[in-house]
Amino acid sequence: MENVVLILGSNLGVRTLNLELARRFIQEHLGEITGRSSICSSSSWGFEGKEFLNQVISIRSILNAPSILKEIKDFERNSGRKERAKSYADRTIDIDILYYGDQVVEEEGLTVPHHAMQNRRFVLTPLVNLLPEYVHPILKKTSVELLELCPDKGTCEVWKDV
Ligand code: ADP
Ligand code: MG
Repeated sequence: MENVVLILGSNLGVRTLNLELARRFIQEHLGEITGRSSICSSSSWGFEGKEFLNQVISIRSILNAPSILKEIKDFERNSGRKERAKSYADRTIDIDILYYGDQVVEEEGLTVPHHAMQNRRFVLTPLVNLLPEYVHPILKKTSVELLELCPDKGTCEVWKDV
């Protein structure tokens, strides 16, 4: 059993419903949800598009990290997410693995902790909201410290408290 931290993002359709459906999928297929952040909103990052809602979720899972990623990709595909054309694009739902306990995973198509989380305010804002003192296993900094050091000029605000 491992504590896993995920981030959900949506900027298409009924975004709160997409997050809700993702949480339901997570609870049923990945593991028990142990915590969720406030929902935060941020302008789309790296491309022009509708604003994103993001939420950080913590779970306890018996699955290993590659199995979690496989389940996530199946869910994203079934949720009508189109394969992306460029690096960043509109999406009904995106689920990324931020942390898998304090383990470091480096394999084809999977890097944990997420390789760019420390550079993204839209990740760190909800992460601070849920797990302010959680320590990044490689950077050895808390979520609060990562946010203070984050170079991202984008904005991200609490949109709905939960
Ligand atoms: P984004 O980077 O915006 O999340 P995608 O969801 O399309 O874009 O992810 C691109 C690829 O990133 C996925 O196909 C997946 O194999 C890979 N990937 C690497 N590390 C991770 C991670 N920690 N969580 C989720 N996907 C990851
Ligand atoms: Mg993703």
